[in-house]
Amino acid sequence: MEGDTALHRSKAGDNVVTQPNETGAEVFNPWTHVSSLIERAGHLLGLDDGMIKRIITPERILEVAVPVRLDSGNIEMYTGWRIQHDTSRGPGKGGIRFHQSVNVDEISALSADMSIKCAVVNIPYGGAKGGVRVDPTQLSRGELERLTRRYAFSIAPVIGPETDIPAPDVNTDPQVMSWIMDTITMLRGYSAPGVVTGKPLAIGGTLGHAGATSLGVTICALALLRNLARTPEHERVIVQGYGKVGAPLVQLLSERGMKVVGVADVRGAIHVPGGIDPVALARHFAEAGTVVGFEGADVVALDDFFAIPSDIAIPAALGGVITERVATTLAASVVVEAANGPTTGEGAAVLHERGIPVVPDVLANAGGVVASYFEWAQDLQGYMWEKELFQQRLEKTMHEAFDAVWIRHGELGVNLRETALAVGVERIAEATRLRGLFP
Ligand code: GLU
Repeated sequence: MEGDTALHRSKAGDNVVTQPNETGAEVFNPWTHVSSLIERAGHLLGLDDGMIKRIITPERILEVAVPVRLDSGNIEMYTGWRIQHDTSRGPGKGGIRFHQSVNVDEISALSADMSIKCAVVNIPYGGAKGGVRVDPTQLSRGELERLTRRYAFSIAPVIGPETDIPAPDVNTDPQVMSWIMDTITMLRGYSAPGVVTGKPLAIGGTLGHAGATSLGVTICALALLRNLARTPEHERVIVQGYGKVGAPLVQLLSERGMKVVGVADVRGAIHVPGGIDPVALARHFAEAGTVVGFEGADVVALDDFFAIPSDIAIPAALGGVITERVATTLAASVVVEAANGPTTGEGAAVLHERGIPVVPDVLANAGGVVASYFEWAQDLQGYMWEKELFQQRLEKTMHEAFDAVWIRHGELGVNLRETALAVGVERIAEATRLRGLFP
């Protein structure tokens, strides 16, 4: 990771968020982007440079080699990371992703996002993130289990209920969390359900975790509409991604009166101007494994997805998709970020110029980590909550977070992304100041 370079660059005020790749082409660097955003928030709040540097710099970066015996008998090597960005407000918290594009800059950026996210929703966690550079779709179930267990073993010295608590992220799910929980439990010699969240119910998961991110996104979309004096009825929404977050989201948005007119997944995009029936789409997806081919839908090129006529655009897949070009042609008048880091710096600048409000990822998709907090609290308590209590507390936490950001937005006079960053940085700075500097 190029932490110093990032600081140096953004300090120079050029806000460069790209760096040359091997072929010399400029590519988006998520770490440079996030660290410059935190730095800008720090300046907005009048923090001194030492404090800003302390908040930006990740506390711990662990890189591990993950050898896996494939079904063929051969051994393949993978690389994994666990990064704890800031733990001033509590133990590190954040997901683990398995993806072929994972690298240290991406995981560092996502770990910093988690520090901000946990602070914005005011839960007692710091930020962390992990990942393995692997395409899990190329692995058998046995290979995936061996990869997960070896990675869990390798990061075991730095994770635990009081230190750092992983959770699902891109391409990881309750089954992967079960293998991690089991590996750590075997290593420690006692049951350790609080070491990961997003587990199945049978081993210390919580009622309501699945779909919690989507519920939080829906709450934020509704709160934004209310503050803009718009009603959900007849709002046309497009959702990019039809996975863990996107699929329940299509259902929830429709239930709350909005009309989902476009959905995309990795295989393609569909457009139904009259609105998509969420139940029929779920049924189609279960059979076809893609939204493509949904009856009565127009096919849209993935490149043109965000240009579909709509009022609300929700990226709910991978990062870096709302580029300058996409932001220029985006048809919607508001964006709610369900994915982590879906908008590039250049894309964000265009949206800002066009006056398009964006509920940023650190607020919009925080429902998942709030659910994780509730799961962890239940595991530590050894007491299971009813689903109603879970739901009620999740909605309350998300509403309070949105309102806190909205009020501060009026005071600071900057856009919602910068405001959310400022709210998070302010809370981290307060904890850092109160705790002082060890030794
Ligand atoms: N991966 C989710 C996120 O990015 C959840 C993290 C967690 O629950 O710890 O927010």
